[in-house]
Amino acid sequence: MVKKYIPVSEPNLKKKELDYVVDTVKSTWISSKGKYIDKFEKMFAEYIGVNHAISVSNGTVALHLALLALNIGPGDEVIVPNLTYIATANSVTYVSATPVFADSEEDTWNIDPKSIERLITRKTKAIIPVHLYGNPCNMNEIMKIAKTNNLFVIEDSAEALGSEYFGKKTGSFGDVSTFSFYGNKTITTGEGGMVVTKDSEIANKLRILKGQGMNPDRRYWFDIIGYNYRMTNIQAALGCAQMERVDELVRAKRNIAQLYNKYFMDIPNIIIPAEKYSTINTYWMYSIILKNYCREEREKFREKLEKLGIETRPFFYLMTEMPPYNSYENNECKIAKLLADKGLNLPSSTLLKEEEIKYICGEVKKCLKEL
Ligand SMILES: *Cc1c(COP(=O)(O)O)cnc(C)c1O
Repeated sequence: MVKKYIPVSEPNLKKKELDYVVDTVKSTWISSKGKYIDKFEKMFAEYIGVNHAISVSNGTVALHLALLALNIGPGDEVIVPNLTYIATANSVTYVSATPVFADSEEDTWNIDPKSIERLITRKTKAIIPVHLYGNPCNMNEIMKIAKTNNLFVIEDSAEALGSEYFGKKTGSFGDVSTFSFYGNKTITTGEGGMVVTKDSEIANKLRILKGQGMNPDRRYWFDIIGYNYRMTNIQAALGCAQMERVDELVRAKRNIAQLYNKYFMDIPNIIIPAEKYSTINTYWMYSIILKNYCREEREKFREKLEKLGIETRPFFYLMTEMPPYNSYENNECKIAKLLADKGLNLPSSTLLKEEEIKYICGEVKKCLKEL
C-alpha cells in the first residue's frame, strides 16, 4: 500500500529517543546542563573524527559562532555559494562581513573552486563550502586554494552528516565546521546544531561565546559580549539516541538513492545526483534536474506531483535573486542559476518504502511526458 501523502522528509524517531527524553524529564535536568549534552558532544566528535564538538541551539547560530571564533568581521569578505540555504549567507551578514557569491559545479551542484579563485580579493578572509544535499564539495581544491591564499575554511555540513571525501567525514576538513539537527536533517534534535574543530583554542572560544561570554574560571564574570546559543539536555537526549542510530539512518538515505537511481534509469530529460570518485554522498535530499525545462515548467511539474500526493521542493533560490542580497554582485553564476531553475528535491525520508519510491518514479515519468 502506498501512503496517501508522501512528504519530502519526516523525523525518524523510535523508542530509544522517547526513553532518553523521558529520562531527562524524570531527572529534572532539562536545561543546558546534563549527561546527554556531554555524551552527545563526545559521540559526535568521535564520529566526525575531530577533537572538539560544541553543541548549540541550531545550525544557523553554529555558523555565526564559527565566524566569530575566527574573528571575521566588518570589512572582511567571505566566499559562499550562491546556491545554498540562506543561513550560510546570513551568518556572514550577522558579523557585518560581506558575503561574496560563487557559482556551482555542473556535476556536484556544489561551490566551484574555479569560481572561488576568481572572487578572491585582498579582503577575503574565509570560504564557506556547503555540501549541498549531502554531496561532498571538492575539498582537495578548496583546501589548496585556502592554503595558498591564507583563508579560513568553514564547512557548512548541515546537509551532509555521514558523507565522506577520500575516506574522511565531511566536517573534518575545515578550520571549523557546522551541522544542523533541524527536524528534516539526517539526524534531528528538533532544533539544534553542532560546531566542530580540531583546534582547542578555537574550541574554548566557541564555548565561551555560546555561554554569554562567561569566564570559565570565574562564574558570573564576563570578559566579552557573548550569546546564549546553548542546546538543552532534552535536545541532546534526542541527539544521543539518533547518533546511536546514525549508521542505520545514513544507510537508509543511501539505499533510497540507489532505488531512485534504479527506477530512473530509463527516464530521459532528467539528471540524477552524482557520486564522484572517492566520495560518499549521503543524499540528504534526493534531487533531480529537469534538463530541458524552465522554472515555470518545473513549478507546473511540482503541482502535478503535489496533486498525486507527492511532496517536492524546488532547489534553493539563488541568494542574489532574493531581497536581502539582490543588490549584491551576482557574479553571473550561470550554472547555479540553471540548477536553481530546474532542480527539485523528491521525498527522501528514511521511512520511505521501495513501493513508494517505485510509485514516485512512475508518476514522475508520466508527469514529464505531459509537460
Ligand atoms: C539547515 C541548514 C542550515 C541551518 O540550520 P538550522 O538548524 O535550520 O538553523 C544551514 N545551512 C544549510 C546548508 C542548511 O541546510
